[in-house]
Amino acid sequence: MGPSVDGAAQIAMNGSGIDRRQRYLSIGALAVLLIAVVVAVALVWAGVGDESAGNASGGSGSARDWGRLRPAGAEAPSGDISATVYVPDSPAYGISQVSAVRSVPSAVLIAKARASATASATGRLAGRIICIDPGHASNTNSGTEPIGPGSTETKTTEPGGTSGVASGIPEHIVTLAIGLELRKQLESEGARVIMVREGQTFDGLARDRPLIASKSGASLFVRIHCDGSTNSAANGASTLYPASIPGWTDDIAIESRRAADSIQAALVSGLGVPDLGTVERSDMLGFNWSDVPAVLAEVGFMSNEAEDLRLVTPAYQRKVATSLSAGILDYFSAGQQGR
Ligand SMILES: [Zn+2]
Repeated sequence: MGPSVDGAAQIAMNGSGIDRRQRYLSIGALAVLLIAVVVAVALVWAGVGDESAGNASGGSGSARDWGRLRPAGAEAPSGDISATVYVPDSPAYGISQVSAVRSVPSAVLIAKARASATASATGRLAGRIICIDPGHASNTNSGTEPIGPGSTETKTTEPGGTSGVASGIPEHIVTLAIGLELRKQLESEGARVIMVREGQTFDGLARDRPLIASKSGASLFVRIHCDGSTNSAANGASTLYPASIPGWTDDIAIESRRAADSIQAALVSGLGVPDLGTVERSDMLGFNWSDVPAVLAEVGFMSNEAEDLRLVTPAYQRKVATSLSAGILDYFSAGQQGR
């Protein structure tokens, strides 16, 4: 029986030996699996980081990108005007719809814009009031408005802008970043700057933008936009100005054109981009409702991959602002007539 006992003991021992080896094997396999998972997670994380940092091709503009590009102070509007209809998207920088009706009386918008302006007494622009209108907003408005005072022809209030073909970043983010930088530069030259919007949203109608400029006593209304085209090769800058329309823009057309010439020249030389010239427009609400000389700078194409990827960087946005500022300085130093 001994052998059988021994045998049984041996079998038991063997059995426990096998169990132990299997346990070691499975612990080893688990450890290898765990390390593999950790490495995989780390690789994916690094990939995301690279895309965010470099705005690599094909990015769809994550909230992370937009957060990084959001200029300081570009927050949602403060309590006095936010008790209205805009519905922030998620993330907060997407496009959302608002009601077509006027949500905020323009007087409130004008007072808010004026209150935000500061000025110094010295500089080449001392005593000047300049209104900056960063194009579009994070909220759209599918309502329609007359294209000029008393007109039966209408246009959509805020259809929303374009967005970067490669960066995925919306135009309104870029125009605001450039606008805030331009404000800084104009203020450093002594100008008092009125911002149509300082945050991502705009709660007024399209006509409120020029009305803010006019009612603020601005001597120039500078609208900032980015271009888009179905031709992905199109790139460069252009500057739009109002056609002379009796009763609407006949009093601002000449000065607007002169400002457009100065700004377009400065954009082209400052950015080294193709010169797409100045363009007369008769159909733009932002011009036809303005009582002060007005221009609209199309600073680059977001439908062009290379130009898009430049436009979304703070360094290039600063360069655009510097060029706009130089053009504005040229315009005023050449002697402003009329006003
Ligand atoms: Zn635009």
